[in-house]
Amino acid sequence: MGDLEFLKKQVLETSIYSYKQGLFAGTSGNLSAFDKESNLVVITPTSIRYDEMTIEDIVIIDLEGNIIEGKRKPSSEWQLHCEIYKAKDNVYSVFHTHSPYATAFAVNRKPIPLILIEMIPFLGGEVPVAEIALPGTKELGLNALKVLDDRNACLLANHGVLAVGQSVDQAHIRAEYVEDAAKIYHYALNAGEIHLIPKYIENKMRNNQ
Ligand SMILES: [Zn+2]
Repeated sequence: MGDLEFLKKQVLETSIYSYKQGLFAGTSGNLSAFDKESNLVVITPTSIRYDEMTIEDIVIIDLEGNIIEGKRKPSSEWQLHCEIYKAKDNVYSVFHTHSPYATAFAVNRKPIPLILIEMIPFLGGEVPVAEIALPGTKELGLNALKVLDDRNACLLANHGVLAVGQSVDQAHIRAEYVEDAAKIYHYALNAGEIHLIPKYIENKMRNNQ
């Protein structure tokens, strides 16, 4: 269980940091890491405030949601996390936030277009919007998968943000960049005309990756 202990610590520390950053508010948002060796998911618990969370609160489940370790119940969005791990071989961490600027565009059901250069390496391009689904269902994950494709993040209609990565740190930085891009897009929309990154710059940057 060596790696699982490390992942538990990482999930806890990154969750508390995300709360302090404002990516998570109250008990909303959730974070998980997938351990390939054991096929188990380390995930934040449901209904515990991030500022009161300790290592004992982190839960280990299998991909069907059975609790393997922990005294808490896993996040109510565990199915969202597990559907992504089942479908995507190269994803080892799933980050779900209700970060305010990005969630505002999820309410508008408007993708965040390619307006910043860092969106190419970090997010894989524009941030698409997944169709609405009931929270806490498998469908939320399946709808996200339909738009994720070669992207590392998407908006969940009328709900929030989803970011994935090969590590907790990578998923976290991608969730940060979604919020950052949303905030800048919001200000730019209010200030005037929007100019997207031209295709030739996008293609050149993609080829250099
Ligand atoms: Zn949510």
